[in-house]
Amino acid sequence: MSQTVLVADDSTLRLIQETYAAYEVEANGPGMVARFKLPHATVTVYRSKKVLFQGAHHAQEASRFQRGELAPLSSAPSNELKSSVPDDLPTASVIGSDETGTGDFFGPITVAACYVPKEKIELLQELGVKDSKMLTDDAMRDMAPLIAASCIHSTLTLDNPKYNELQEKGYSQGKMKAMMHNAALNHVLRKMDGAPYDYILIDQFAQEQTYYNHLNRSKDVVRDRVIFATKAEQIHVSVAAASILARFQFLKALDALSERAGVTIPKGASAKVDKVAARLLRTYGESELKQWTKWHFANREKAKRLL
Ligand code: MN
Repeated sequence: MSQTVLVADDSTLRLIQETYAAYEVEANGPGMVARFKLPHATVTVYRSKKVLFQGAHHAQEASRFQRGELAPLSSAPSNELKSSVPDDLPTASVIGSDETGTGDFFGPITVAACYVPKEKIELLQELGVKDSKMLTDDAMRDMAPLIAASCIHSTLTLDNPKYNELQEKGYSQGKMKAMMHNAALNHVLRKMDGAPYDYILIDQFAQEQTYYNHLNRSKDVVRDRVIFATKAEQIHVSVAAASILARFQFLKALDALSERAGVTIPKGASAKVDKVAARLLRTYGESELKQWTKWHFANREKAKRLL
């Protein structure tokens, strides 16, 4: 079978995972960290940092990362991912959901869902609610309590010990995220107690079919009027609000970790993260550090090497 193998550094690994996030499928094989099924290629990321590209477009896909910069997708995203959203979505009553923390070595994954009936859209926009990537952490710390006070919402935290347990059992991040989104949506629907909504909008991280496959053993799978869209926080303010609530929860968790560790815990998975992790490893030891991190990330080994 034709294939290309790359050995990727951390930033390339992250780029690969971000680029293909919407195509994530289960990664069950030995040593696999993540797996992505594109229309004409399959990409598998291994713990060893090897990335295997297979299928008709293996070379084109791999070449996007060999150059160290991101070339355009060699094949158009499948129709499933491009699914157009209803025209009335931006002005409808919507429950939006989004997650954060997935690419950070330290701290949990958090997911939030937020119900924004159409008569509250303007209020949230006046509060300055928009794509969390366009807001500073401080702006989000100010905004989140206001959103929480004005909207029915649910915020869930998958703490690191539980994350690591699930990861060691073979759960992909995609599966964990799907379960968390579904749970948050169920919480919000329960709190709404029959209040009307037109759509549920999930900021898309997997193909629709993959999302529901992840939930094949879950009960109460929310399906009614569910729409998936990428960059959904730009489509409806409910997803932007959810992204801010999720981020706020994540920041609070990092604050608590920083307090416990006695150092400022950095976000992300950069070399700076390796350095802090190495310091904590020396001070607190491996089993403690594991409680604070997504233990399967490459940062673990890099931190050990720094010691
Ligand atoms: Mn998102």
